[in-house]
Amino acid sequence: MYKRLPITFWATLFVTVVCVSLLASDAWRSWNAREVLLADTERAAANLARAMAQQADDTIKAADTSLADVVERLEADGRGAAALARLHRVMTSQVGNLSQLNGLYAYDEEGRWLVNSRPVLETRFNNADREYFKYHRANPGRGPYIGVPVISRSTGKWVLPVSRRVSHADGSFAGVALATIDVEYLKRFQQSLDIGKHGAVILVSNGGTTLLRRPFSPELMGRDLRTSPLYQAYMQGKAGTGIWRSTLDGEVRLNSFRALDNYPLFVSAALSKDEVLEHWRRDTFLHTLGVGMLAVLLGFFGRRLVRQIHLRLQAEQELLQARDALESLNRQLEKMALQDGLTGLANRRQFDVTLGNEFSRAMRQGSELAFIMIDVDYFKQYNDLQGHSAGDDCLRALSRSIRMQTPKRPGDLAARYGGEEIGVLLPNTDAEGARAVAERIRAAVEALQIPHPGSLFQVVTVSAGVAALKPRRGVDHATALIEAADRALYAAKSAGRNRIGSAA
Ligand code: GH3
Ligand code: MG
Ligand code: MG
Repeated sequence: MYKRLPITFWATLFVTVVCVSLLASDAWRSWNAREVLLADTERAAANLARAMAQQADDTIKAADTSLADVVERLEADGRGAAALARLHRVMTSQVGNLSQLNGLYAYDEEGRWLVNSRPVLETRFNNADREYFKYHRANPGRGPYIGVPVISRSTGKWVLPVSRRVSHADGSFAGVALATIDVEYLKRFQQSLDIGKHGAVILVSNGGTTLLRRPFSPELMGRDLRTSPLYQAYMQGKAGTGIWRSTLDGEVRLNSFRALDNYPLFVSAALSKDEVLEHWRRDTFLHTLGVGMLAVLLGFFGRRLVRQIHLRLQAEQELLQARDALESLNRQLEKMALQDGLTGLANRRQFDVTLGNEFSRAMRQGSELAFIMIDVDYFKQYNDLQGHSAGDDCLRALSRSIRMQTPKRPGDLAARYGGEEIGVLLPNTDAEGARAVAERIRAAVEALQIPHPGSLFQVVTVSAGVAALKPRRGVDHATALIEAADRALYAAKSAGRNRIGSAA
């Protein structure tokens, strides 16, 4: 089956396969590069998230430690003026020592200001309305509570409140101790992270409330994130990654989130997918353009090559056809040159050549060469009575019969010698043998029973003259053999026709 498909098909297939595999391998390479890039980005985001979580944890931990100290002092030392004065000094010193600590405060059970780290104690404010205050009043838990960022009443700056409950000895509510963390401190750390132009980082409470985000925007402080894909993913596991469209700004980012070790918060670092892939896209575009052009060139030249092959094959085919036609024409010409058109016997030219050859051979070999000259009887009358065309038909029939009776040894040759005269050359044959052949021919013709009203015999008959010769060099000549056969034929005619005459 494969052999029947032309070479041009295979050449086309080859060029196509090369082009397609070139494009396919480029596509695969590009896709692979993209996957590697995204995996690298994911790792980078995960590292950023880890660093952020650690920093937030450490920051809150330091503030919370001071807070726990304040609570312990309040509960142990009471609220006497001396105790509060000492606590004021401790608070001032703590805030001075910790740069992330904006302030330390203590409120009584009514929300009134007891003591704080400011130089002057303001007493005109009441913090009973604050969310953390309500929380501690309602919950007996002793652990820290991290609230939503607010603008400080005393400093006017964004602060993240961390609070603890102060209890009486019997466990009843005695007030709240509050540490405020400078949001600017957390923000500076967020700003120091390399997240590109369109990246984002965020600090979120376990309850789904935004505590701080970069890029910073005051409206985002305290924003509820519970419906975001990030929060949904965080609910499934404490650390992970994902690619989502941000519900805040619509940017698609690779996110890596992680919970803080000690506090009910989590962070997420997110890098813009477009930004990450920007360089890859340009690179892929240029690469694909190059490979595409290469494929087009390959296809173009491949097509030309296939066309050349096709043309060459076509020319080859045409040449073969021309050669075959020439050969057949040659054979036909050869036949025409050596054959008699009417009877299909050898023509006079072939006869003359063969006679010359056989005569020389007989001379060389000292063998005998015989010749029979056959002539149709009363053929003029046949033509006159039956018409010339019937005469031709008759000649054809006689020739066929004569050919059949002529031996088929090499050198034996029946030829149309003249008009209605046929000669039979028989090498290596003596007069006796030739006579036998002649007699067979005569009998065969008579047996054809071709009606001939003008003949004495009423059917077409032939007469023949037989001659044989052992040619001697320098003495005999080929014409002598012919003349002898001719004389014998004449004798046969004279003797009454339809018989064989022999040379005397
Ligand atoms: P004979 O018995 O003595 O041979 O008498 P004949 O009439 O055959 O005399 P001859 O051999 O001289 O006759 C030759 C005639 O053969 C002359 C011509 O009309 C006829 N002839 C020669 N060639 C052809 C041929 O190609 N076709 C036809 N139809 N007739 C031919
Ligand atoms: Mg004749
Ligand atoms: Mg005749």
